[in-house]
Amino acid sequence: MANLVKSLQDVVAAHPQKAAYVFGEDTVSYGQFYGQVKAMASTLEQKGIGQGDHVALVLGNSPAFLITYFAVLSRGGVVIPINPTYTPDEMAYILLDGDVKGIVGLSPLVAQAEATLSKLPELKIVISVPYADVPALKREGEIEFIPFAESFAASEGTFVEVDEEEVAVILYTSGTTGKPKGALLTHRNLFSNAHSIGEYLDITPEDKALAALPMFHVFCLTVIVNAPLLRGATIVILPKFSPQDVFDLVPKHRVTLFAGVPTMYNFLLQTAMKVPAYTSALKHVRVFVSGGASLPVQLLESFEQMFECKILEGYGLSEASPVTCFNPLHGERKAGSIGPSIVHVENKVVDELGEEVGVGEVGELVVRGPNVMKGYYKLPEETMMTLRDGWLYTGDLARRDEDGYFYIVDRKKDMVIVGGYNVYPREVEEVLYQHPDIVEAAVIGVPDAEQGEAVKAFVVTKHEGVTKEDIRAYTQTKLAKYKQPTYLEIIEELPRNTTGKILRTVLKSEAFQN
Ligand code: AMP
Repeated sequence: MANLVKSLQDVVAAHPQKAAYVFGEDTVSYGQFYGQVKAMASTLEQKGIGQGDHVALVLGNSPAFLITYFAVLSRGGVVIPINPTYTPDEMAYILLDGDVKGIVGLSPLVAQAEATLSKLPELKIVISVPYADVPALKREGEIEFIPFAESFAASEGTFVEVDEEEVAVILYTSGTTGKPKGALLTHRNLFSNAHSIGEYLDITPEDKALAALPMFHVFCLTVIVNAPLLRGATIVILPKFSPQDVFDLVPKHRVTLFAGVPTMYNFLLQTAMKVPAYTSALKHVRVFVSGGASLPVQLLESFEQMFECKILEGYGLSEASPVTCFNPLHGERKAGSIGPSIVHVENKVVDELGEEVGVGEVGELVVRGPNVMKGYYKLPEETMMTLRDGWLYTGDLARRDEDGYFYIVDRKKDMVIVGGYNVYPREVEEVLYQHPDIVEAAVIGVPDAEQGEAVKAFVVTKHEGVTKEDIRAYTQTKLAKYKQPTYLEIIEELPRNTTGKILRTVLKSEAFQN
């Protein structure tokens, strides 16, 4: 059975000298990387971390992330990646819900989590990067604290053989409402998706993939970590996205593969508009991938024109490890579409009864394939609601064209109903993006005494000279009356999470309503 660890071993055997990752001025070969993984696996073994044990990774993009991720997997353990920018409460929720036995985290975060650590009955080991001392817990002698630099044992850890249906990663989904849910992804789920992406994007050992997205997010984990490592390519680690760093690192390391969310494409575009020299900085990139949120067609066209390139939009969700659809590298690329189903994965659009609808009709997108999760951790009811008759219900509204290409219309729960008419925020946002003075836009529904709901738009403008009246006059020429924003706000920037997704819940919160 193939899995991520075995595939890494194959790559190490085939070309140990080849660079696995680049971090700052350091280039680390596959042979060296594998040595780091084995040493860390040995430490985990000595501390009793083995098959089925949960280890939380609270790390930014770094060698520590890659090493620990593979070390835990090779011990048959389960990785729980946690966003290191979470508040102590958000982190505590996942650590407690996730029943962790080990934590590998940035030291300020480990120290912050002190109160939580004492509540974790299973916790045995904390490896901090660099070192965090939590004397209260140490005195009780319950939990061992080790600095990351000292966590590489001289011996080699025993790799544990695991069945492909065993859980490898629990991904707590960002969850726009309610508490985050832990999607259980098996070795098979992760391997199959990484394998498909590697083939789909023709990744070879010559490729260099820029990790500009956060590794704790499944988009980066599969497309930029797993798929390239499986195919012997090099990962260029960027600790945190900034347009400046991208324009520096891409030419320096001749990066060939870039994956980003639409916001990143927008930032890169806006920066290059101010610094024309940057327009040639990305010329070595052979594949640009966008996902995580809809890529406005206007943004896609402007970016492609400026950098003389092509962006391939794909679609995915944590519960599907994540990719289900992708525009092809060879073959027709359709702007505004998420592309056809990737190999081995089926997508279809269904009505409220679960029946497939016809070409062009809007319904919920459902997915089936080896990449679909086992369920949510400790949540049988939510699992039953999401996985029905063998299909994963995505909660996204979509349509399919006659060529089998899918289009995301919007999230089911973001749809606004104005006086009985359906308004898809995405359609209104696409129109706003076409306005020459609008940089970004987000549309939500707000309660309305007459119509039930009304459309409200938030826009970020290029300069202060643009007025609400200008924008209203513009939308009147482009949209039917019921789709036009009844409320319009010009704001400095849109609220986003660390993956760059617009936080609609924040826009809907009282702070934004006046
Ligand atoms: P996550 O589980 O955090 O990866 O979020 C998954 C969600 O992101 C999906 O259910 C979609 O709502 C959204 N999403 C991902 N890719 C796209 C895309 N290309 N177009 C529109 N929405 C997308």
